[in-house]
Amino acid sequence: MRKIRILIAKPGLDGHDRGALVIAQAMRDHGMEVIYTGLRQSPVQIATAAVQEDVDVVGLSSLSGAHNTLFPKVLEELEKRNAGDIPVIGGGVIPNEDIPFLLEKGIKRIFTSGSPTEEMAIYLKQLLRPEETPIPPKQIAHLGIAVKKIEEVLPFYTNAIGLEVEAIEEVESEGVKIAFLKVGETRIELLEPLHEQSPINSFLAQRGEGVHHIAFEVEDLTSRLSKLKEKGVRLINEESKQGANNSQIAFIHPKEAHGVLVELCEHPEGSED
Ligand code: ZN
Repeated sequence: MRKIRILIAKPGLDGHDRGALVIAQAMRDHGMEVIYTGLRQSPVQIATAAVQEDVDVVGLSSLSGAHNTLFPKVLEELEKRNAGDIPVIGGGVIPNEDIPFLLEKGIKRIFTSGSPTEEMAIYLKQLLRPEETPIPPKQIAHLGIAVKKIEEVLPFYTNAIGLEVEAIEEVESEGVKIAFLKVGETRIELLEPLHEQSPINSFLAQRGEGVHHIAFEVEDLTSRLSKLKEKGVRLINEESKQGANNSQIAFIHPKEAHGVLVELCEHPEGSED
């Protein structure tokens, strides 16, 4: 897969390109190939360069205040060269009230001067290499905490912290008893071993009581697992399995996260309250 090629261009007359150069370097640091046109380029020059350089995306930077004219003009010139499918993003000094107009004209996204370059890099990877970039998990579904006896630790979470017990469930297949404590849309799960062979029991023996795993709520568990496998990420569960609350879950090997056991879980639509 070739690197993402981005043309960074400064249309118009303003003579400052520090910001554009910072963006250019940041995108290089994110593994992209950056072509920088230099200052004071006309929309014609920019569109021509985009086509000649066969870029995946054009990033326009403007500080001059002429973005409402110049950005759409670049789109027009791309269109004339049958390159209207090259996405164009913009940045620089763009007042918030101009953003809807620019999006309406066909600019994909505007990054105002305060946005971190990281945000732009992630956006571009998701836009241009969606098959390589996982969708961010919706939230932390729960934190799993290994305990010897739920009843011994529960008063801390209820009386000292003020959480309420949502349910207590025994999952025979995992050899574990779980207390669910709701915190907003996230949960604390207290995990108590049901017997000697329980994985929680071996965790307690090796590391003692404490945080056992972190679970991310995702929407695409099956395809995510196959992508992780392709990337060589070590999985404990290559296929998803039934978890608590009608969820599907899978664990990633703790070596991947340097000692943290990571769970991915997916709740079918509407099963969450
Ligand atoms: Zn879990």
